[in-house]
Amino acid sequence: MKIISSKVELFEFLQSLKDEDRKIGFIPTMGAIHFGHLGLVKRASRENNITVCSIFVNPTQFGNKDELKKYPRNLDRDAELLSKANCDILFTPLQEDLYDSENIEAELNSIELNKIDETLEGAIKPKHFKGVAFILEKFFRIIEPDSAYFGNKDFQQLQIIRYYVKENNIPVKIIGCDTVREQNGLAISSRNEKLSLEEKNTAAIIYSSLVECKSISKNLSVSDTKSFAINRINQLSELNCEYFEIVDSESFKPLKNWTDSNTIIGCIAVQFKGIRLIDNITL
Ligand code: AMP
Repeated sequence: MKIISSKVELFEFLQSLKDEDRKIGFIPTMGAIHFGHLGLVKRASRENNITVCSIFVNPTQFGNKDELKKYPRNLDRDAELLSKANCDILFTPLQEDLYDSENIEAELNSIELNKIDETLEGAIKPKHFKGVAFILEKFFRIIEPDSAYFGNKDFQQLQIIRYYVKENNIPVKIIGCDTVREQNGLAISSRNEKLSLEEKNTAAIIYSSLVECKSISKNLSVSDTKSFAINRINQLSELNCEYFEIVDSESFKPLKNWTDSNTIIGCIAVQFKGIRLIDNITL
């Protein structure tokens, strides 16, 4: 695996491969690589000739500067895991090489995401999704991937990227990949590292509630299905359900009736031991 930190070097290297008509698959990450990321890398490497993964802890998507500072960073370990998963190129840019931080406010404000960025995760973390779209556009322009791979775990992010790429005619195929889970069903996340085995088992109630919710939803109204999941989570005193919303999977507008949409998703965020865990299920 080649490690490149200069955008010009990466661009020139990839252009030479494109001349040979190679397909490029791209996986953007913030590092702290785990099995969830590796699932995307493995799929990209099956479907392309060249797999590029980026590690960049993106300041524009953190509202809280303390969280940005504390985000786990361990490049040597990450590089080893990615290399074993058949990643060909690891791109580790410095912020200064990607954009000039003094002039980004106007650029961020001009990003339009059809209000999908204002609900659920976006309501809790304002500007987060604009920051994601901002940085991804930079990556897409440098790497010009044929396909880019994202996890269904962050389903709102995935749908926002699909919208943004389409609206801005960015020529990349966006591929959503199944959420990789612990054996107990808990969606794997870099934040899980802060939980003990016992705590992870407690947190597994998040996904089991979603699965139960799916099966009982056939007999309940939207509002009763929501209450069911929220009560189920909150019955454990250490867990606090921040939201559980049943929404249309494209507009992310909350539904009143099951007949309001053909593609319905239940999205949840739970506070547990000082961290936020998110997950979702197709209903
Ligand atoms: P992050 O490093 O957290 O920005 O995540 C990078 C990519 O990995 C995003 O597309 C995430 O949705 C995806 N991802 C994170 N966790 C998982 C998981 N458990 N299963 C599948 N994809 C994941």
